[in-house]
Amino acid sequence: MMDGVKIPQTAANLVLLGPPGAGKGTQARMLEETFGLVQLSTGDLLRAAVAAGTEAGRAAKAVMEAGDLVSDEIVIAILRDRLAEADCASGVILDGFPRTTVQAEALDGLLADIGQDIRAAISLEVDDSAMVTRISGRYTCGGCGEGYHDSFKTSAVEGKCDKCGGSEMKRRADDNAETVTQRLVAYHAQTAPLISYYDARGVLARVDAMAPIGDVAKELNAVVTATLA
Ligand code: ADP
Ligand code: AMP
Repeated sequence: MMDGVKIPQTAANLVLLGPPGAGKGTQARMLEETFGLVQLSTGDLLRAAVAAGTEAGRAAKAVMEAGDLVSDEIVIAILRDRLAEADCASGVILDGFPRTTVQAEALDGLLADIGQDIRAAISLEVDDSAMVTRISGRYTCGGCGEGYHDSFKTSAVEGKCDKCGGSEMKRRADDNAETVTQRLVAYHAQTAPLISYYDARGVLARVDAMAPIGDVAKELNAVVTATLA
């Protein structure tokens, strides 16, 4: 945990908005460490459901491979269950959720039920043209989930995770140029309107996410610190 950073005393829930490849997962993991919040990625939860072969996972698999959005019903149910777990009580960083207005409204309802709300929605602002390069170079450690990139974030020792020392690196089935194009279409049609949704509530912040990872992290830390003050 970073020295001098204030840890929220009451639940502080943050939403990270941005297209696939914007850096939501990368930044969420750093914010998690810095502010003691819990990263909650519906993409990760869905991939776990697919791997476990649950009913939701079986329904989601082909949709994810095509780069479309999984139904609101399935995603909201998965999110609701995860949010009810004890470690989420002091605040979460939502990464990849909500992705539709129906999901945003459901989230408001779930949080209101437990006397909480969204403290800030932070839009990671990027150019679509850079996203194919970011996504096609992405890989993660199979042991701890740390994210890497072939050019933009390499590990100190090739093939070995800086965080856990693991050597099983994985690439996602949907991280290919064809699927990325469809995921960007889905983002602009269904998710981008949420920027206005949160702006209208006065909780929106925008961060330039075309900058290098460390610079984005600095700007985000400043936004989150101000939000939690
Ligand atoms: P998202 O969760 O929004 O889909 P990720 O955090 O997984 O995006 O980032 C996508 C890829 O781009 C990863 O390989 C990551 O290492 C890399 N990346 C993230 N942020 C940046 C950045 N600011 N500049 C360059 N590459 C980045
Ligand atoms: P991500 O890991 O966030 O890039 O998500 C990978 C895929 O999971 C997406 O392309 C969607 O198919 C699905 N997915 C993740 N989160 C959601 C969500 N909130 N709503 C609908 N589909 C989602």
